[in-house]
Amino acid sequence: MSVADLDEQQHRLVLTAHPLQRVGAYALAELAGAEEPEKVTPEGFNTAVAKMTADAIRAAKVRDTKRPEGFWLKVSLSFFPNSKMNHNAQLKKSDEELAAGIRAWRSPPEPASWPGVRCVLCGREAVGFYGKVDVPLAESHLYRNTTPRGHAGLALCWPCVCSFHALPYGCRLTGGPSIALHSWDERFLARVVSRQVERNHQHIVLGRAADKIPAREVVALHALRHYGERLTAGVELLVFSNNNKGQTLEIHSLEQPLAEWLRKTARRPELRQGFAALLRAHAGPKSPGVVGLARNAFHDPERIPAACARYLADRFDRSGLVPSDAADLAGLCSSFAIEVMWMKENDLAEIKATAHGVALLLSRETSAGKLREFHSTLKDPGRMQAWLRTRAVEWTLNPPEGADRPLLGSRAFQLLFDTGSDNRAWFHRQLLFVAVLEELHRLGWRPADGAAVAKEITEEDQPLGEDDTKYLQGEESL
Ligand SMILES: [Zn+2]
Repeated sequence: MSVADLDEQQHRLVLTAHPLQRVGAYALAELAGAEEPEKVTPEGFNTAVAKMTADAIRAAKVRDTKRPEGFWLKVSLSFFPNSKMNHNAQLKKSDEELAAGIRAWRSPPEPASWPGVRCVLCGREAVGFYGKVDVPLAESHLYRNTTPRGHAGLALCWPCVCSFHALPYGCRLTGGPSIALHSWDERFLARVVSRQVERNHQHIVLGRAADKIPAREVVALHALRHYGERLTAGVELLVFSNNNKGQTLEIHSLEQPLAEWLRKTARRPELRQGFAALLRAHAGPKSPGVVGLARNAFHDPERIPAACARYLADRFDRSGLVPSDAADLAGLCSSFAIEVMWMKENDLAEIKATAHGVALLLSRETSAGKLREFHSTLKDPGRMQAWLRTRAVEWTLNPPEGADRPLLGSRAFQLLFDTGSDNRAWFHRQLLFVAVLEELHRLGWRPADGAAVAKEITEEDQPLGEDDTKYLQGEESL
């Protein structure tokens, strides 16, 4: 390979299998004004690197991370600790010396010093070995001071090193651990990173501190719901710090069907209608619904329909009326079952048929007590089974008008109570309860004693909390 080709190669970005390198490469492309990393020209590459170097020099000259404009300097300690940008010994130097040190740090090593090995990420010629100063998580803190000289870490080519230098531009910066969103859906990653680079202008170029975020998972939820295209891959939330005080990396994943469902609920009108109710269902005494929903999505998605069931039951308990948003939430739970849990349409129909029967029976009651009793069996499958069996016998002996099938078919029984590992009986029981409330709402059932309570309370449409209201307002333009 000629010297010119080699030089060209060291100015061309490539995407590798390393998620943080990929986020950095997209950020560098955005700084270079290119649509994607592969389209960055050598001139664009140089421009972007020059911008990053200028930003690092400006931040270092602040010298004090506690000053109002010292945010980027403070954050740099979690990306490039002990670098020429923030090492104590550097900060005591004159502005000129400081700038020269940073420029040297951000310039490629002379070819004579290249180690003659390949970049571990992309396989091109490496320009040196890189460790913690340039690459987050390249070494564990346990080995920090014991790495032999000359073996500081990973063999990397210059464009891969620069991708790591650009990584902070593509992350949500908090002042503490940083948050990166990654996906193998290239279009989504390009979009998310380019928006983040724009926003980080305030923090990196202007030095303004970032707002506190309610929860890191919300960053992902927000990005998903503002994305207009179909997602073709899952999404990972990487929370990391390369700080000397402790290196951390947490990875939380969202599978593609759930990521796509969360996105679609912002777009499809019939699902969007219930989203405010979904937030209300996830609100806790101290935390907004958007936090509860985002956390459930990442950590335990099956809790999403469970939260809906609990919320509807609580509201019924308080007002004695079937909540008016029961139908909206039931619609969301059904689409969740089909699109996220891959439940078969026929199976969902079986559960709904049982729910229809249960609602018919309950609607003949004038007291709210029977519905409360049915709800209490959710905690105890044995009792729910006994409850349904007793009603099934009554149903057979004295079928309601128009009843042309048993209350509890064998498939529904299996779905609700079979404890086999491939059956999500618990999830199906939550669906059943939500569907019962949906039917009762459709039937217009108003228990006599419930109405008395309702007179006092009137049907309180629990208002959304302040944070959730703001969140929804932010989505109005979608
Ligand atoms: Zn490389």
